[in-house]
Amino acid sequence: MGEISKKQKMLLEELDRREYPSRVAIRLIYEFLEEKPDEEDLDPRWKDIWKKYEHYARRFFPPPLIKEIEEILQSIKSVDEDIGKIKIDENTKITFLLGAGASAPSGIPTVDKLLSELWKRARKIGREDLDRLAEWCDDREISNIEDLLTAAYISNFAARNPNITALLNYFIFSGSRELSEEEEYIIRGRRVSRTTVIDVSSISFLQETLQTLFGLLTSTMISASPNPTHKAIVDFIEKHKNTSIIITNYDGCMDEALLEEKIPLKGTISGENEDNPNAVQLIKMHGSINWAYCDSCQDVREFDLLELKKIYEEDKLSYPVIGICNKCGGLRRPLLVPPLSFKFLMFPNLIDIWNSARQSIEEADYLIIVGYPFSEADTYITKIISRSMSMKDNQKMIIVNTNPHLVPLLRKRFSAYIDGFDEKRILQGCERCGKILPKILDSMLDKNSPKKKTKTDGEKNKEE
Ligand SMILES: [Zn+2]
Repeated sequence: MGEISKKQKMLLEELDRREYPSRVAIRLIYEFLEEKPDEEDLDPRWKDIWKKYEHYARRFFPPPLIKEIEEILQSIKSVDEDIGKIKIDENTKITFLLGAGASAPSGIPTVDKLLSELWKRARKIGREDLDRLAEWCDDREISNIEDLLTAAYISNFAARNPNITALLNYFIFSGSRELSEEEEYIIRGRRVSRTTVIDVSSISFLQETLQTLFGLLTSTMISASPNPTHKAIVDFIEKHKNTSIIITNYDGCMDEALLEEKIPLKGTISGENEDNPNAVQLIKMHGSINWAYCDSCQDVREFDLLELKKIYEEDKLSYPVIGICNKCGGLRRPLLVPPLSFKFLMFPNLIDIWNSARQSIEEADYLIIVGYPFSEADTYITKIISRSMSMKDNQKMIIVNTNPHLVPLLRKRFSAYIDGFDEKRILQGCERCGKILPKILDSMLDKNSPKKKTKTDGEKNKEE
């Protein structure tokens, strides 16, 4: 997409702001679209705007006019033309960054639907404490798993550190609330008392609740299979080795798609295949459903994903990721960063992985960012990307996302952050990723081999 005029920009903003459709608004839309010079492109946001006005327009305006508007809107390019001009060669480093949108078509619930899915599964287990928690959350309309897990983590920490609990109290209530006798009792002396007994049980309750929630979280993901997005990336990698993949999801869809094609993985927690030139770097920043760590001795291990999936589906053995550590007998947990509001505080096991994610973002000539929402909770990733874009003038991003507002927002943000930022460094593919990504990747590879026609016979035979 090229530049849009100030007039178009202002009209879009105005139409977006209006709460109710009106005749005046429809007339403004029509007049603008009619008079717009041919060389000016239309912003993809028009499609969204039209959805808001369409119903009203159909009631009050003649069908030929509606048809005319819709024909013009259909011509909106959802993919920047510049993407088609990208040329890559074997030295071009490509880094993919996949977010929840890439896994959603595989049936994995997105964060906003995760908690209700977990409660649904929890009810089947029939554990009274979990039912009570679910009911408590329901009553208070708490539906965000991020809130729940964040509170559980803070409580888990605070329950072991009475001074912190008291300070939390002080900060939250600005010191205006007197500590109860019980709380004072815990802080001073920490004598064995009724209250410490309560503490211990609340710690184990939290531990167990977290463990169960993790188990349920994993169970929503273990049976998911790769979708066209994952397959398009595998096809691309088979032709372009200089590629890394960073994922913020913990499902195994991308891993599975690669492993099915017998492509070995490196960059995982096991540290395997580091020197294997055929291995593809798969960096799972938020951990993975087949990684585990021991809460006591910090032992980290990776289970074979395909094996694990089989065990789960055939219901043969209990899920080994959640179990007892065979080194120290401690509690083993899945190594995954749950949707917390402060993701990067408590997972020292993943530091090396985050470092390699940063490195692979900084090395990239093209960052292809698929279904990643750039949400507030992920400031760490957004910061590495902005730093990398400001350090490397020729680095470009291709944003594959159905949200038409994302690219305009990112262009604005990067322009504010980087002096003289060229907005064309952020390219847009606004469409479902399963549909558009294969086309984008194919076109990048096509430009890669202009010598197609002059292939030797030997090569032709190989391909056949
Ligand atoms: Zn251990």
